[in-house]
Amino acid sequence: LLALAEHPKVLADGWIIAALAWTCAACITTFIFIFVTKADRVSPNAATDKERQPLLSPTSVTPEKHHYKQKGLVIDKSDDVFHTAIVRLALVAAASTVCTWVRIWLFSMYVARFTARIRRTFFASVMAKDLDFFDGIETGDLVSRLMADTAVLGDSLSPNLDQFLRGFVTAVGVMGFIVMTSWRMSVLTVIFLPTFVVVAVFYGIVMKGIGVSGQSIMAVLGEMAEENFSNIRTVRSFATEEDEVQRFKGQVDNLYYYGKAEAWTHSSFQSLAWLFRVTLRLVVLFYGGHLVRIQVLSGGDLVTIVLYLEQINLSIVTINAVYGGMMKGVGASQVVFEYMDRKPRHGGQGSVVKDNFRGEIEFRDVTFAYPSRPHQTVLNKMSFRVSSGEVVALVGPSGGGKSTCVSLLQNFYRPSSGHVMLDGIPVHHYTHKTLHSKEPVLFSRSLRDNIAYGLDACSGVDVTSAAKQANAHDFICAMRDGYSTCAGEKGLQLSGGQKQRVAIARALVRDPAVLILDEATSALDSQSEAKVQEALSNSRQGRTVLVIAHRLSTVEAADRVLVVDKGRVAEDGPPSYLLALGGLYSALVRKQLIATGSQAVVS
Ligand code: ADP
Repeated sequence: LLALAEHPKVLADGWIIAALAWTCAACITTFIFIFVTKADRVSPNAATDKERQPLLSPTSVTPEKHHYKQKGLVIDKSDDVFHTAIVRLALVAAASTVCTWVRIWLFSMYVARFTARIRRTFFASVMAKDLDFFDGIETGDLVSRLMADTAVLGDSLSPNLDQFLRGFVTAVGVMGFIVMTSWRMSVLTVIFLPTFVVVAVFYGIVMKGIGVSGQSIMAVLGEMAEENFSNIRTVRSFATEEDEVQRFKGQVDNLYYYGKAEAWTHSSFQSLAWLFRVTLRLVVLFYGGHLVRIQVLSGGDLVTIVLYLEQINLSIVTINAVYGGMMKGVGASQVVFEYMDRKPRHGGQGSVVKDNFRGEIEFRDVTFAYPSRPHQTVLNKMSFRVSSGEVVALVGPSGGGKSTCVSLLQNFYRPSSGHVMLDGIPVHHYTHKTLHSKEPVLFSRSLRDNIAYGLDACSGVDVTSAAKQANAHDFICAMRDGYSTCAGEKGLQLSGGQKQRVAIARALVRDPAVLILDEATSALDSQSEAKVQEALSNSRQGRTVLVIAHRLSTVEAADRVLVVDKGRVAEDGPPSYLLALGGLYSALVRKQLIATGSQAVVS
């Protein structure tokens, strides 16, 4: 209920309201029905003969009944009462069957809808996070939160929520009957209940803690498994399988520790609950027996109260059983809600929508540190301009800040100070859709969809011409399913060069004003390299190109080179000029940090 109060949008649903209302209405109706039935019932335990009288009254014996009576069949008013009671019980049984069906259906539907909604909401909220959110969290952790934690939450709610409520309402209703039968006995019962509630709350806190810790370890396990399975070749080539198995075993042992803690807590609580129940039973019998002896309570009423108490006990058993599970689920979902609640650092995306960019880039006094490492200044008052249509190569020692420049230009992060501008407007003022990103990763869908990724309506012709420009058309057509071939991690295994050409096609299909390329450092065979180089030179025409270059041929083909070192632009000018300057650029070339051989290309 607390979570409901904090997250009304995620948890509140017409179905839960309907389910709650139905349960309460059905319980109240049942109690009223039982109460009415009780009112005109003549208790077999009635203390006085006066109460018994109507049952035995000969006036109610009709001639017909008399006939049966003579034949040895006893039919009198008590038989009518008996029959009516049976009919009413049958009605209660039929009504409760329908009510049970509706109740369980409503709650199960609620849980199914809730699980679906929380997964949707969680996924959508994670997708909208700033990139620095992902710097601090492993992918495996997020996947585990999305799948396992939400499932635990759903499972803990599904049978539990309705049983919990039913147990609670039954306990309250039966308590009402005890009050009506004997106030003394009800005071005794009420004195006992708080003790149990305190123990139950403590139990809930412990189970919630176990839920949080257990799911965190599950997340680590998911992360480790994902990392190892996706990097199985690296693990094999370094023969580190045994180390990885040991690391995994360490975490499984941790989880086992929480399993043991849960077993201990659960059994302790259940036995305490049992002790509570038998003690209550004994005390009621002892005190009730005393009241019967001093004739304050009838024997029949004591038996009735003992039977009611058994109902309360039954409710307590149900509440016990489900409460721990529910609290574990609440604990498990804590991180899910925490992730969803994390506010974006910079208040979301901008609102400027623009179709025709000129492609002018300007970094003005940009200082930046990654939010995950706020004390390490990566860019230090960096300034440069790139005019429309210019081809600029970013070079420099590894760690100098080249990729960071590109990330800032794509508005993945905000500078700590200064401005990153596109066509004179700070990039964070544009909407996300206006600034396209071109990730090299291929998704598990058709090559056509991969090229057209992120575009709403893209005709087949656009895809084909982009693929032709990117030198990808021929190899795609050579495949059995052509453009419908499924790419991605588990689909088709494309070669490095082919992946890069599909990535270039993806960039080109949008006909962007600014093309950002990052030459990969992985080696390609000379034939694919030539193909990718050709695709690159095709793609440069008529647009501003910013390329993080690792190959000398790419740098030489650029109009300008920016040497980025220690977060600043150390040198700026045409490649031939910088080579003659004899500074950092010429040193990089000499040290072959910019390779002339078959290293690299675009991603
Ligand atoms: P380059 O592309 O020139 O090799 P980068 O821009 O990738 O350099 O990195 C510049 C510095 O920023 C490096 O010290 C690197 O460790 C750090 N860095 C890069 N990405 C991140 C990140 N996501 N979180 C924290 N630090 C990062």
